[in-house]
Amino acid sequence: MDKRKNKVGKIFKAPRGTQDYLPEKATLLYRLDQLAAEKFEKAGYRRIVTPTFEETGLFQRSIGESSDIVRKEMYTFEDRKGRSLTLRPEATAPVVRAYIERNLQAEIQPVKLYYMGPMYRYERPQAGRYREFWQLGIEAIGSSAALIDAEVIVILMQYLDELGLKEITLYLGSMGDDNCRVDYAGQLKGYLESRLDSFCEDCNERIRFNPLRVFDCKKEPCKQQLKEAPKLIDHLCNECSEHFENIKRLLKVAGVDFVIDPTLVRGFDYYTRTTFEVKSPLLGSQDALGGGGRYDRLVEQYGGPDSPAIGFALGIERLILALEKEGVKTKVENEIGLFIVAIDESTQEAAFKLLIELRNIGFSVEMDYLSRSLRAQMKLADKYGARYVIIIGPDELKRDEARIKDMQTSSEKNIDMSETASYLLKKK
Ligand code: AMP
Repeated sequence: MDKRKNKVGKIFKAPRGTQDYLPEKATLLYRLDQLAAEKFEKAGYRRIVTPTFEETGLFQRSIGESSDIVRKEMYTFEDRKGRSLTLRPEATAPVVRAYIERNLQAEIQPVKLYYMGPMYRYERPQAGRYREFWQLGIEAIGSSAALIDAEVIVILMQYLDELGLKEITLYLGSMGDDNCRVDYAGQLKGYLESRLDSFCEDCNERIRFNPLRVFDCKKEPCKQQLKEAPKLIDHLCNECSEHFENIKRLLKVAGVDFVIDPTLVRGFDYYTRTTFEVKSPLLGSQDALGGGGRYDRLVEQYGGPDSPAIGFALGIERLILALEKEGVKTKVENEIGLFIVAIDESTQEAAFKLLIELRNIGFSVEMDYLSRSLRAQMKLADKYGARYVIIIGPDELKRDEARIKDMQTSSEKNIDMSETASYLLKKK
């Protein structure tokens, strides 16, 4: 029996589908954010942070009542005043809400934004699929030009490339607009309804609610049936077709490779025209690293001005998994340059004072907090990988000195306490 359990009762565990980002991974998480921020900001994107929960209706209206997310994956709850709130399953709807509510349409268009934060979906957890997961994303609101589609996609692909990912493929598609989609949806429904028995139960439901969603199905028999199905990409109207051709041309200009995927229909209702997805064959069944698309009607649908937009979201857990699978170095070392040893309690105050001084001028400095022996402290300094150890004993203190040991050469030297900082600065 677990002894701790005996003493304190239940031992708590993190909720299913969530994870703790322990220090090394947490540092990597924010390092990825930092690298993205540098890159995105150079391209004129600015950070936005929205609440982790919103009014439930916001997501129902944008993502669509027939989507898997709204039908079964939302974390919805009532607050103490009976308001229905939902933990955000994605960030596009909140960003669009903020764009309208905070009057961002008064700024230079397109408004180019990026974000990183946790999202929540009640999905069956498995490798690469969580109930709380992080997304890094971009939204560019206020332009329908193919230029901005290309820019957004290029930024994503260059970010992944700079991180060192090699085995990824960009898939590109188009979902047309209201013009071409309505006609096409009728044709597709006809095709699907003539073969209802060949599709899985989920697909049968999709055919009823929103036939385009059958292309989301991962089951092999359904995929086989869909090979012969009419494809939206072959039914684009002239404007949509021209837009699609322009993006392809611009991606080529930027040197970004892509594969056309006529079945690329993403799981949200709000997409129009461009859709894209980045996949890694090393990720198993959850192979999509990220994806996005154009959502030209969404801002208007929320009561805002006519503001065509495009964005993407990248899943951070899958990104980290892909980096690990490709053997890209992800270990982020917490570098400790200096370690201060207080030989006994009488020297602790002087050691602490020096610790603060050295940290104030930019050194990363550690000391012992458990009154370890000198030997144990030296071992600890070694474990931290400290380059120099500063030893303060009662004798040194009497002479107002510190002993500095170079851990690489093992040489030692006594220095006036007041000179320690400048000595170490010279060595830096
Ligand atoms: P979506 O918002 O569904 O287009 O997803 C964009 C990206 O977020 C996906 O390609 C995944 O990398 C990531 N993602 C979506 N759902 C999950 C999940 N449940 N767990 C982990 N990552 C996810």
